[in-house]
Amino acid sequence: MSTGTTAPSQHGAFDKIDAPSMDGLRACVHCGICLPQCPTYRVLGEEMDSPRGRVYLMRAAAEGRTELTPGIARHLDLCLGCRACETACPSGVPFGQLLEATRAQLERHHVRAPASGRRTLGFLLATFPHPERLGPLMGGLRAYQRSGLQRLVRASGFLAPFKRLRAMEALLPALPARARPLAEITLARGKRRGRVALLTGCVQRFVFPEVNTQTARLLAAAGWEVWAPRLQGCCGALHLHAGRLPEFRDMAGALMRVLDRDADLVVSNAAGCGAALEEYGHWLGDAAGFVAKVRDVSEVLAEADLRFDELPVTVAYHDACHLAHGQRVRVEPRALLRRIPGLTLREIPDGLCCGSAGVYNVTEPEMAAELGRRKAAAIRATGAAVVAAGNPGCVMQIARHCGSEGLGVEVVHPVELLGRALRDS
Ligand code: SF4
Ligand code: SF4
Repeated sequence: MSTGTTAPSQHGAFDKIDAPSMDGLRACVHCGICLPQCPTYRVLGEEMDSPRGRVYLMRAAAEGRTELTPGIARHLDLCLGCRACETACPSGVPFGQLLEATRAQLERHHVRAPASGRRTLGFLLATFPHPERLGPLMGGLRAYQRSGLQRLVRASGFLAPFKRLRAMEALLPALPARARPLAEITLARGKRRGRVALLTGCVQRFVFPEVNTQTARLLAAAGWEVWAPRLQGCCGALHLHAGRLPEFRDMAGALMRVLDRDADLVVSNAAGCGAALEEYGHWLGDAAGFVAKVRDVSEVLAEADLRFDELPVTVAYHDACHLAHGQRVRVEPRALLRRIPGLTLREIPDGLCCGSAGVYNVTEPEMAAELGRRKAAAIRATGAAVVAAGNPGCVMQIARHCGSEGLGVEVVHPVELLGRALRDS
C-alpha cells in the first residue's frame, strides 16, 4: 500500500498513519507560479490561502514547527481541492494527495476550524454516497418541487438564516421524473470492441439520468458493450476529499470488486468520480490493474468513428477541474464537440474552478458563490447559448449562478450534445 508515510521522526505534528509525503512537501521551491491559478488566492489575495502558503503550513506541521491548529484547518478547509496548482507547478508538488493526507490528520486529531459546517458535511457524507438513502431523499425533493412548496419557500426567504441549507436548496435543479434504471447490459452496435463497466455515479444516477442513458447509447454506438451493474456503490470521492480515509477505502475496495470483473475498461462520466478512481493506486495499493482501465467517457468516444448530424448551436466548454487537472483530459471533450457539424465551440476566458468542488459549494457557500458569479461573467463574455461541463457538480453550480445572473444558458454534460447529434444509422 502506498501511503506516503515517512519515518516516525519526520512526522512532526502528524501521526504516522498516512502522513503527508515529506518528499512531496519539499518539492515546493516557493516559485509562486501556481498563485494566479488558485481560485482562493485570486479572491482573497492571502498567501496562506494560496497553494504555496498551504504547502508551507503542511510542511511546518510535518517538521514540528507548528501544531495542527484550527487556523491551519481553516486555510485547508477553504481550499477547493481543484488541483489547478498541480497543473501549474513545475516541481511536481502532488498537492491533492498532500491536502487529502493532511485533512485526514486533522480529522483524526479532531482539529476543526470554527463554524466549519461539519454537521452539513456529515449529513452530505451520510446521504449522497448511499443510493438507498439518496433515492428516497430525491423522491421527497421531487415532491417539494412539484407541490409548489419550493416556490413558496424561495419567495418567503424562510431559508435566509440558514446559509448552507439555502445554498443546497438553490443548487437543486428541476428533478426529472423517476427514471427507469439504466439497463444492466447495452449491446454493442457494429463491430464489437469489447466491454466497459460504467460507473453510474450517485448524483448522476438520480439527478441527471439522461447523462447515463446517453453515455451508454454513445458507447454502444462506438462498438462497446456497456455493463452498468445495478448494485454498485459509491467511488468514495467525497470521503476522500473530506479526509475520511477509512470510509473511503471501504467504499473504493467494494466498488473495485464490483467493476473490475470481466470488463476491458471502467468508464466514468463524472469528473470527480473518475479522478477518485485514478487515485485508488495511491490510497489503496494493489489497484494498478484497475486504475489502468479507468477512462473518462470522452477518452473512449474520441477514439471511435461516430457520425453526427448538424446541431447549430454555440457552446462554451467548461473544464471540470477533476477532469482537466485530476485526469489531464482536456483535448478529447473539445475534439468530440468540434466533430458535430454546425456546432461552434467557444473557450471560457477565465479557466478557474466554478466553485462546485464536490460539496464545497454547500460547506463554503460564500467563496463558492463568488467563484460562481465570476464563472457566470466569464460565460457571458463567450456569447454561448449552451455550456458543456463533464461533471454533475459543475453543471449544477454553473446553472445556479448563470440563472441568478440572468443568463439564459442551458448547462449540459457534453454527452447530451453528442447524443442529440448522433446519427443512428
Ligand atoms: S487545490 Fe485549488 S484552491 Fe486548493 S490550493 Fe490548489 S489551486 Fe488553490
Ligand atoms: S508552483 Fe509548485 S513549486 Fe512553485 S510555489 Fe506553487 S507549489 Fe510550490
